[in-house]
Amino acid sequence: MTARSYIYRIIIFTILIFSLTKVFSAEKIFCDQCGNLIKAGTRYVTSNGKNYCDQDCFDKSLPKCDVCSEPVKNGFRSNGKKYCSEKCLMTTWGKCELCGKRVQNGYHIGNKDGAFFCKDCMEKPKCFLCGHPDNCKELSDGRFICSNCDKIAINTPAESRVIFDEVRIKMKEKLDMITDHDIKFKLVNLQELNTESELKYSDESMEQGLFVHEERTKTYIKTKSIFGFEFGRETKTEVINNYSILMLFSLTKDKFIEVAAHELAHDWMQSNYPNITDLKISEGWAEFVATQANNQYGNSHMNSRMRNNPDPVYGEGYRYVAGYAKEHGVAGLYKLFSKLNSGQ
Ligand SMILES: [Zn+2]
Ligand SMILES: [Zn+2]
Ligand SMILES: [Zn+2]
Ligand SMILES: [Zn+2]
Ligand SMILES: [Zn+2]
Repeated sequence: MTARSYIYRIIIFTILIFSLTKVFSAEKIFCDQCGNLIKAGTRYVTSNGKNYCDQDCFDKSLPKCDVCSEPVKNGFRSNGKKYCSEKCLMTTWGKCELCGKRVQNGYHIGNKDGAFFCKDCMEKPKCFLCGHPDNCKELSDGRFICSNCDKIAINTPAESRVIFDEVRIKMKEKLDMITDHDIKFKLVNLQELNTESELKYSDESMEQGLFVHEERTKTYIKTKSIFGFEFGRETKTEVINNYSILMLFSLTKDKFIEVAAHELAHDWMQSNYPNITDLKISEGWAEFVATQANNQYGNSHMNSRMRNNPDPVYGEGYRYVAGYAKEHGVAGLYKLFSKLNSGQ
C-alpha cells in the first residue's frame, strides 16, 4: 500500500492593485523580482508587502509547478512539491493497471514496486499465479486465473511431462543435482493436492506442487511344503520406495519450471539427507534451488517472491539457506546438511 501523501491546497494571496497604485513622483520603489526602479507615474503590483513592476514580474516570483513549470497561484502542495492544478497533481498519482484510473492511494502487489491497483479493482478476484486482480476466470477447482496467465497456462499432461523432464536434466547438468529415483509425475487439481499434502498453508504461500515419498515394507513368509509338512520357513522383507511429484494444472511455463525445481530439490534432499526434518531447512533449500533454476532459465526476476516472502518457513528458510550458501559456498551448505542429517 502506498504511504498516504498529504495534500494541501495553497492559495497565493494576491492583491493586484494595478489600477489604484501609482508611484508618486517623490518615492523610489524597486521591483522585488527584477530589481528595476519602478518609474514614477506607472502602475505596479503589490502582494504580501512586496512590489513588482508588472504581472510578469509578479508571476516570476511565484513558486513553479513541479509538473508543468507554470507559476502556482491556486494550487496544491503534496509531499513538499507544488502543483498548479489538480490535473498536474493527479499526474503524480499511481495509475491503476486494470482500469487506468489515477488514484492517490492504491495497492502494490508483492512489494512496493509491484503492479499498482485502485481500491475498487482490488475487490475483484485475484489470479492465483500473479496475484493481480482481474476479471478472472474460475478454474474447475475454484482457483481464479487472470487472462494474461490463462493464455500461457499449461494444462495437458503431455506438455507438462516434457517440461518436467527438461527441468530434471537441467538440474543434473547445471546444478549437479540428480537422483536415480523413478519419479511418477501427475498434474492434479487443488483438492487432490491438498488431500495429499499434510501442510495446509494459507493462500499466500500455497504450495503448487508436492513431492511424495512413500516407503512401504512388505513382509512375506516363504515356506516349502511336502505332503502337508512345512519346512524351511523364512520371513522375507522387501522395501518398496515410491516417489511421485504432483503439480497443479494451469501453471504458466515459468511457474511450472520453478515449482518443478522446488519439488525436485525435495527429492534430492530425501535421497542425500533423509533425516533432515526441519521444514525451514528443507523448504528453504527447495526455494533456493527454485531460484537457481529460475536463473538458469533467465527468470531471475521471479526470485523477488522468495526474497520477500514473509512466510516463517518458506521465506525465512529461503533467506537462511541463501545467506548460508553466500557465506560458506554450496560446499559449506552441504556440510551443514550433513551435520543436520546426522543429528549433530
Ligand atoms: Zn520587475
Ligand atoms: Zn502544472
Ligand atoms: Zn482500477
Ligand atoms: Zn495472473
Ligand atoms: Zn516444498
